[in-house]
Amino acid sequence: MPNWVFNGLTIEGNPESITKLVEQMNSPFHMVHDSWDTTTQSYTKKDTFYSSPIFSFWNIIKPTDMEAYQGQPDHSLPIEEAMKYKGDSWYEFNNREWGTKWDVAVSEDNKYPETYMEGPVANGDNLVVYYNFNTAWSPPIAAIEKLSAQHPNLLMTLSYEEETGWGGEAEILRGIIISQSEYGWKCRECDHTEEETPYCEECEYDMCPSCGWGEPDEKCQTHMVESELPPKVQVKENA
Ligand SMILES: [Zn+2]
Ligand SMILES: [Zn+2]
Repeated sequence: MPNWVFNGLTIEGNPESITKLVEQMNSPFHMVHDSWDTTTQSYTKKDTFYSSPIFSFWNIIKPTDMEAYQGQPDHSLPIEEAMKYKGDSWYEFNNREWGTKWDVAVSEDNKYPETYMEGPVANGDNLVVYYNFNTAWSPPIAAIEKLSAQHPNLLMTLSYEEETGWGGEAEILRGIIISQSEYGWKCRECDHTEEETPYCEECEYDMCPSCGWGEPDEKCQTHMVESELPPKVQVKENA
């Protein structure tokens, strides 16, 4: 299993452009790929239909050489070469062109999709649409840059958070990242972020410098003081 990255993509702009993008992302397509058959213990070609994919990297950029795409990467390459993703196997194409190894499109037989759309809703004269999807290992910056270049008058904001705690946010316009912030750690309690996992200096267990959240060592004085503080909301009210 990969480490998952939870992505939220907010796109804002004029109504015609937003409508066009929503249609493009939801365009139906077929994908033939190798599927492991447990009864025959071999790969068989499986045709998956995405009748309403919601959001799909495939609909941003898809391979032109389908035969190469259905193949596997050259496993004899040294690691530095393999990491350049130069070939056109599905693994190399996806990592190079999308920035992640799997698509997030919702297939016809997927009953519990993690990819979903909210909106579009009006914001003044603009429309705003939000997409939620999970990617393997990394945020799909490369795919969103391409989508942004295709819709130069829309502002895209990608927020991403990896399951072990790192994450960030990138604003993309006309195919270019115009601002990006990243963090190595985020508090589950108050959303405070830090570059490195913050520790209590006394016991060296995790502790949020903003709200005190963390797993304390039972004997740690610092943590005992923190845990005797009134709840955060109350501190605010008294201040
Ligand atoms: Zn401590
Ligand atoms: Zn906190």
